[in-house]
Amino acid sequence: MLSTIAAISTAVSSAGIGIIRISGPDAMNVIDRIYRSKGGKKRIKEMQSHTIHYGYIYDEETLIDEVLVMIMKAPKTFTGEDTVEIDCHGGIYTCKKVLETVLKHGARTASPGEFTKRAFLNGRLDLSQAEAVMDVIQAKNDYALKSSMEQLKGSVKKSIVEIRRKILYHIAYIESALDDPEHICLDGYPDELMEVVKQVQTDIDKLISSADDGKIIQEGIKTVILGKPNAGKSSLLNVLVGSEKAIVTDIAGTTRDILEEYINLNGLTLKLIDTAGIRDTEDAVEKIGVDRAIHIAREADLILYVADSSRALDEDDYNILEILKGKKAIILYNKTDLEPVLPRIELARISDHPVIPVSAKEETGLKDLEESIRNMFFEGELSFNDEVYITNMRHKEALMEARESLNQVINSIDRMMPEDFFSIDLMNAYESLGRIIGESVGEDLVNEIFSKFCTGK
Ligand code: GDP
Repeated sequence: MLSTIAAISTAVSSAGIGIIRISGPDAMNVIDRIYRSKGGKKRIKEMQSHTIHYGYIYDEETLIDEVLVMIMKAPKTFTGEDTVEIDCHGGIYTCKKVLETVLKHGARTASPGEFTKRAFLNGRLDLSQAEAVMDVIQAKNDYALKSSMEQLKGSVKKSIVEIRRKILYHIAYIESALDDPEHICLDGYPDELMEVVKQVQTDIDKLISSADDGKIIQEGIKTVILGKPNAGKSSLLNVLVGSEKAIVTDIAGTTRDILEEYINLNGLTLKLIDTAGIRDTEDAVEKIGVDRAIHIAREADLILYVADSSRALDEDDYNILEILKGKKAIILYNKTDLEPVLPRIELARISDHPVIPVSAKEETGLKDLEESIRNMFFEGELSFNDEVYITNMRHKEALMEARESLNQVINSIDRMMPEDFFSIDLMNAYESLGRIIGESVGEDLVNEIFSKFCTGK
């Protein structure tokens, strides 16, 4: 028989309440061993499912805490098993004490992700939904939360199931035709299959290409701030971050370290990286910073180039403009509170990138920057109504494998190979896609995925 597991499911900190969750066939017995209602007569086991009961937790004759007990009987629970949640007082010591009592009376400690793993194994969630549970917990912004909630509701699963259904139909058709050639004729069939495979590849491509947006939604836009020393990079970073983390100084070339910050821009996350001022320098330490800056700029999703409007363009600026070529970049025409020396039009003339006037000092122009970034990455708005976003690398890899197998099918059709060649590769595509929703995955992979969860989930 499966064991009954328990864990503290809320954050372990001093808070108003803490929740201990128990799940498994023995959950109702465990709670009955330690719960006493006010009158002392109630037995949880006999109560209706999905009800809440006030009372006390006792370890034998020792009173532990005053609690609310929520009971949910299988199968309509998160895990699909009998589940009990104990709302206790939220102190670290109290929660641990209640958990200890639960463990002493018949449950064992849940491993990380074990509740969600059971939900998956009991068919309450497919694997993509189970992974979305973790994404919901880790969401850093509104968009990440929305996309993981859609996945939790089954958006990825739905698309994958639909694609697999089409593939399976053709696997079955070929198999039946090969078994019964007298009644099912495959003349002209390869042309028909070619159409279907191309259609399916289009569906898969759409999902794969959503993964770029998906990654940005989930992890943030990797943003590098470039500009020569004293242009105002650190000041800008501070304004964006809203704290004084970066060292702001008047001495040219002192921001040598690379700083990383996450900021939220109305639901979008920027993963900001500040770099040493780019300039031609002999200073060894600074040189490392500059090289790193160029390297990082190459890998960035977005470059913010801070130009100093109170100084004329020089060689350094031209070098930076060179780095920007072919990249997503925005030119920030900074220090607009000062008398301009560099005309804004000049920047617009020599570069294709948008030029946005800002003042890090007076904190102006930031709304325009926000809008410009949003337009650049999502053409204004992200739609979560009809679009499915792939945000998980594992899913993307499986989709790419499926795509490759379908390429093989196309090859075999082109080369007029026998039909059983088609079905082998169709089957491979079917299985690759199955891994996304958790079909045909081995125990090792399941364990690995759930071990990344926190305990209590
Ligand atoms: P960095 O070397 O590019 O990181 O530049 P800093 O952020 O250290 O700024 C260099 C100097 O320019 C500091 O004295 C800042 O106070 C000043 N500064 C930055 N932004 C502005 C601005 O928008 N207006 C004015 N007047 N000064 C600014």
